[in-house]
Amino acid sequence: MAALDGLPPLRDVIQRHGLDAKKALGQNFLLDLNITQKVARTAGDLTDATVLEVGPGPGGLTRALLALGAKKVIAVERDSRCLPALAEISDYYPGRLEVMEGDALKVDFETLGIEGPIKIVANLPYNVGTQLLINWLTPRQWPPFWQSLTLMFQKEVGERIVAQENDDHYGRLGVLCGWLTQAHMAFDLSPQAFTPPPKVTSTVVHLTPRAAPLPCDLAKLEKVTQTAFGQRRKMLRASLKPLGGEALLNKADIDPSRRAETLSVDEFCRIANLL
Ligand code: SAM
Repeated sequence: MAALDGLPPLRDVIQRHGLDAKKALGQNFLLDLNITQKVARTAGDLTDATVLEVGPGPGGLTRALLALGAKKVIAVERDSRCLPALAEISDYYPGRLEVMEGDALKVDFETLGIEGPIKIVANLPYNVGTQLLINWLTPRQWPPFWQSLTLMFQKEVGERIVAQENDDHYGRLGVLCGWLTQAHMAFDLSPQAFTPPPKVTSTVVHLTPRAAPLPCDLAKLEKVTQTAFGQRRKMLRASLKPLGGEALLNKADIDPSRRAETLSVDEFCRIANLL
C-alpha cells in the first residue's frame, strides 16, 4: 500500500520527540496509519468539513484526517510534549491544521465560532471520554454545533452508548444517546492495535444528531433515569417512589410492575414530562 503521506513513520516521530506514553493522560497511541484511516473514514466525507480532534498525541489520526482531505483540523492536546510533532504536520499541510494546547474538558467548543459543518473525530483518552461525550450531547442549542461524532471508547462504554431497551448495557447513557442521536458501533480494535496496549478492547462509535428529539427537559429526564436505574432490578413502582411511584406511572400509562431496563426512550420522556 502506498504511504499515507510523506511524513516519517510514527515510531520515529515518537522516538525523536521523546513521547513515551503517559498513563495518566490515557495515552494509547495508534501507530498504524491504515487503522487511523479506517477511523477517519468512519466520519464520512471530510472535504468540506472542519474536524475537531481531541487528543491528537503524536498525530496518527490527525494525519489520516488531513490525508483524506479534511478542509481543516482543529486539534486540542493537553500534553505540550506533542506540540513539536504536531507542528511538523502543520507545516506539511499549510493552513489546514490548528493545534490548541489545553484541557478539552475546559474548552467551550460551542462558542469557538468555528466554520461548519463540524465533525468531531477522536481517539479519546478513556478517563475523560464519557464526560466529553455528555458535554457534546448537551449544548445550549439543538441541533448541536456538530454534524457527527466519531469517537473511540472502551468497548464496554460503546455498548452502553448504543444500547436500547431490554439490553443488559441499557442505562442512563443509552437513554441520553438514544433520545438525542442515532448511534452505532462501527468496528472494534483489539488492544494490540495500540502502543502501549490497553487492557480492554476498544470500539469506534458514530453518532449523528436527531433533527427533532422528543420534547423533554434534560434535567427532568436525567432525574428519572438516575432514579430508575439506581435500582434497576426493582419494579418501577418501588424504584420511582421518590418521584411519585405508582401514581406517576399510572398517569404515564406505564405498568408499575415493569423494570427500568424495559422502558423505551419515549416512555422515559413521557414520565419526565409529567414531573
Ligand atoms: N490521537 C492519538 C492516537 O490516536 O494515537 C492519541 C490518542 S490517546 C488515546 C489520547 C490523547 O489525548 C493523548 O495524546 C493525551 O495526551 C490526550 N489528552 C488526555 N487528556 C486530555 C484532555 N483533557 N484534553 C485534551 N487532550 C487530552
